[in-house]
Order: sequence, then C-alpha cells, then structure tokens
Amino acid sequence: MYRERLELDGKVAVVTGGSRGIGLACVTALREFGATVVIADLLDELGTEAAASFPDRVEYTHLDVTDADDVTAVFADVAARHGRLDILVTSAGIANHQASAEITRETWDRVLAVNATGTFWCAREAARHMTSGGSVVAIGSMSGELANAPQRQAAYNASKGAVHLAVRSLAVEYVEAGIRVNAVAPGYVGTDLTREGVPDDWWDDWIRRTPMQRVGTPEEIASLVAFLASDAASYMTGSVVLIDGGYSTW
Ligand code: NDP
Repeated sequence: MYRERLELDGKVAVVTGGSRGIGLACVTALREFGATVVIADLLDELGTEAAASFPDRVEYTHLDVTDADDVTAVFADVAARHGRLDILVTSAGIANHQASAEITRETWDRVLAVNATGTFWCAREAARHMTSGGSVVAIGSMSGELANAPQRQAAYNASKGAVHLAVRSLAVEYVEAGIRVNAVAPGYVGTDLTREGVPDDWWDDWIRRTPMQRVGTPEEIASLVAFLASDAASYMTGSVVLIDGGYSTW
C-alpha cells in the first residue's frame, strides 16, 4: 500500500529548469517512479549526454519562464499532446550575490521575474490543465526563510520568500480542484548555481555552518520532490519543507 502511493505510473509531469542541477535530478526521480516527464528549459534542445541518459518517457521543450505567452503555450501544448497534466516542478531559477547598495534595478527585476513571477505563472498555467487534480512542487530556498545577510542576497531572498507565500496562497485557492501546492526549501546544494561566481571561502563557511558538515546533493532534493509529487503526500498542501542538513536550526 505504501509503495503504491509513491508510484507515478501514467502521470505526466513538467519540470522547469530541468536540463541541469536540481531540476535534472527531479526529472530522473519522477521518471524512475513512473511518470512521463517534459523538461522545459532555456536551451534549444537537451544536451546529448542528458538526452542519452533517458531512453524513454522524457521529452524536451524550450521555455523561458519569464515569457508569460510562452508559459501559457507550453502548458497548453503538453496537456493537448498527452491528454493530461498531473505534476509541475518549478526548478528554473537564478542566483544573485550583490550588495543591496550595488544591485541595479534591472538585476532586481530579473531575479524576481525568473524566480518569483516565473514560478507563479507556471503554477497558474499548469493548474488550468490539471483537470483530474495534481501536484505542484516549487523549488524555493532556505534563503526564502533566512536573511543570510552576510552573503548579499536581498533580491534572491525576496524572490524565494515570494515563492513560499505564493505557494501557501495557491494551496488554498486550488484545494477544491484537488491540486496540492507545496515548496521545498533547500539549503546549499552542489550545482552550477552554487559553484559559479562564488568564492571558495563561502563554500567553507556553508559547510562549517551546516550541522551535517556538507552541502546537499541534487538527488537528495529530488527524493523529497518525488515524494511531494506522489499520493504518499496526499495530506500535504501549502507546506514549505526545509531540506538543509540542519543549517536553519541555528
Ligand atoms: P542551476 O543553475 O544548475 O539550474 C537552473 C536551471 O534553471 C538551468 O537549467 C537554467 O537554464 C534554468 N533557467 C534559468 N532561467 C530560466 C528561465 N528564464 N526559464 C527557464 N529556465 C531557466 O541551478 P540549481 O539546480 O542549483 O537550482 C535549481 C533551483 O533550486 C533554483 O530555483 C534555485 O534557486 C534553487 N535552489 C538551489 C540551491 C542550491 O544550493 N543549488 C539552494 C536552494 C534553492 P540554463 O541551463 O539554460 O541556464
């Protein structure tokens, strides 16, 4: 009984930002649990290495989550081609590490547009096609709950805080439609997002401040996402689940 509730056989999922990092691990996990997964990302096509690792039940479509018309069209197309849409994972996101005094208006707008508005718009447009109920899992961040001020993240923190509250609001609005809406809030995870443009001593600091004394892996985040997407999480909606090796306990 419990194992069956984790199965996603016959379900159709979309993962935004699914061509690398946490999103790619989510694609692998959802596929392993039985879903057909559409990766929706900025590339024109999926890289050959990633494509080769998915012999079946994974498709790719171009999507810029900041383009509202594109978002509407992609979810309509997926639902029309597959006859259903059951799961959305929003992993598209960008980082920003600038002091508040230095950040430009353009950069602030971009971070909010990708992380917050993009997540909301995808959730809303996906929900239109979840006619038999569904599950939305947003990748928020521990930084949506903590200021982490020394690392200069005001725009990123604001964007992820917005995701967490939008998730709680959407959860209430969509409960009658049988659509559950939750967020996972990872601490530091080893991906391009945390490797690029970040000084080495930040990594040392993150590890030192994490009780588990390491960063997380994309696969550890994807396990939680797959659980939330499945019927095993049938009583969960509006939750923001921290997954951070204990970082936020301090
Ligand atoms: P990556 O940079 O590895 O992946 C981000 C993905 O999002 C990329 O595939 C990127 O596409 C895509 N993307 C960016 N902008 C857009 C857009 N406008 N439209 C569609 N896709 C877009 O990052 P992670 O895997 O680390 O991050 C995934 C999510 O997890 C993000 O929301 C991030 O904020 C969140 N997160 C990450 C943490 C971490 O420590 N890594 C911690 C907490 C949260 P492209 O490859 O073309 O650039």
